[in-house]
Amino acid sequence: MSGAGRSWAIVGGGLLGGTLALRLAEAGQEVTLFEAASELGGLAAAWQLGDLVWDRHYHVTLLSDGHTRGLLRSLDLEAEMQWVKTRTSLYAERQLLPMSNAIDYLRLPTLGWIDKARLAGTILWASRVRDGAALDEIPVEGWLEQLSGKSVLEKLWVPLLRSKLGDRYPEASAAFLWATIQRLYAARRSGLKEEMFGYVPGGYARILARLSERLEAAGVAVRTGAPAREIREREGRWRLGFGEAKEEAFDRAVVTLTPRRTARLLPDSSTETRAALGELGYQGIVCASVLLDRPVADSYLTYLVDRELPFTAIVEMSAFVDPSELGGRGLVYLPLYLHESDERFHAPDEEIRASFLAGLQKVHLEVTEDRVQAFRISRVAEVFPFPVQGYARRLPPGRLGHGLHWVSSAQIAGGTLNVNDTVAVAEAAAASLIASGGLEAAPGASS
Ligand SMILES: Cc1cc2nc3c(=O)[nH]c(=O)nc-3n(C[C@H](O)[C@H](O)[C@H](O)COP(=O)(O)OP(=O)(O)OC[C@H]3O[C@@H](n4cnc5c(N)ncnc54)[C@H](O)[C@@H]3O)c2cc1C
Repeated sequence: MSGAGRSWAIVGGGLLGGTLALRLAEAGQEVTLFEAASELGGLAAAWQLGDLVWDRHYHVTLLSDGHTRGLLRSLDLEAEMQWVKTRTSLYAERQLLPMSNAIDYLRLPTLGWIDKARLAGTILWASRVRDGAALDEIPVEGWLEQLSGKSVLEKLWVPLLRSKLGDRYPEASAAFLWATIQRLYAARRSGLKEEMFGYVPGGYARILARLSERLEAAGVAVRTGAPAREIREREGRWRLGFGEAKEEAFDRAVVTLTPRRTARLLPDSSTETRAALGELGYQGIVCASVLLDRPVADSYLTYLVDRELPFTAIVEMSAFVDPSELGGRGLVYLPLYLHESDERFHAPDEEIRASFLAGLQKVHLEVTEDRVQAFRISRVAEVFPFPVQGYARRLPPGRLGHGLHWVSSAQIAGGTLNVNDTVAVAEAAAASLIASGGLEAAPGASS
């Protein structure tokens, strides 16, 4: 190992920054982790919902998520994981249809036999393509029409694409859908018989508490409530500015934020670098958590192809985790993916609550207002980069200066944001930063 004892600043205390800080400190580096919020965790953080503490955004780990499981193993939590075979549904033409297995799928009334065969062929083909790089330049709509036909495209693919990408979906590349299908089929590819979903009892609150303990034990100085304002080079060191006048200097600095936030931190970097970072557009989210007196359905995930509903999926945590985790109650997430310029992103909480509960009641008639114990809304402007055609080509280099790096979940190929690929990016960057004395970070990796 080269360069032991250098001082490092890691900006951003999500799972990427947390994992990177831990690995650098374990390799003998002197690390300070700066997090803007009052706690570590970012998108994976937990929050208070009524009297319950659970993930602010729904999270599952797949059996095939080797990198996440590796991190949990190093935190001594993997052995406690609970693995569950979950159910999936589709809400289409005002009907709730099971979609958990091949038989459910063959029974789907919304598609004819030829459509079903073409859809199955598309999924099978996409799951077998190993390198999706060539698909990055290909428009998703034309690609799907060619593989699945116009009818499946219109009845299924377009509503599903719209639910994640909004009306801009035609700008997306085929690599986005390829990466999504690859993730769903990763278990079979890696020789496992079937995919299962897992969680650590206590959810991400527990994982992040353990990560904090390990960071402290490894000697990382964790500074929460510390949003970095700018990073500038002075006399060969990187000076991080906080608030009005406070500054701290480090030998090396790694920024783990979204591209736009990263660009804002770098007043001295070239106009091209800042433009390339600022150009990568993002999808945001309005995600409601609804705590109910009892569970609603037995499906973890319900896909929606009904444009009248105000959210884009129904995710029921209580159909997945043990009832004791939630005190026997129902926990439902209602996500709406959208761009932050969309007026719905800024709608008042009461308006969102009224329309989301009315929407939930359309699908599940029995969910009445008196059953709601708590309702809370999360709004995040930048969740995942919009997977435009040519995304990989547009990604600016991660090396921003001598010993200054950008290592981000935006570097995950195909735009499917998940903890597994986020941890993979962190582990790959840590290995190459340690080996190069902080001069090189491996380009974004994906599993
Ligand atoms: C609705 C939703 C559902 C999801 N479901 C799953 C799932 O089921 N399975 C799965 O594997 N993954 C899931 N994910 C993805 C997972 O949450 C992410 O992959 C992961 O949390 C990304 O971590 P990160 O560190 O890259 O980013 P973030 O979590 O965004 O962390 C960045 C951190 O930087 C901090 N920060 C920002 N600006 C500054 C600044 N100037 N100075 C200091 N700190 C700053 C932020 O506060 C934040 O804590 C989901 C995400 C969402 C939103």
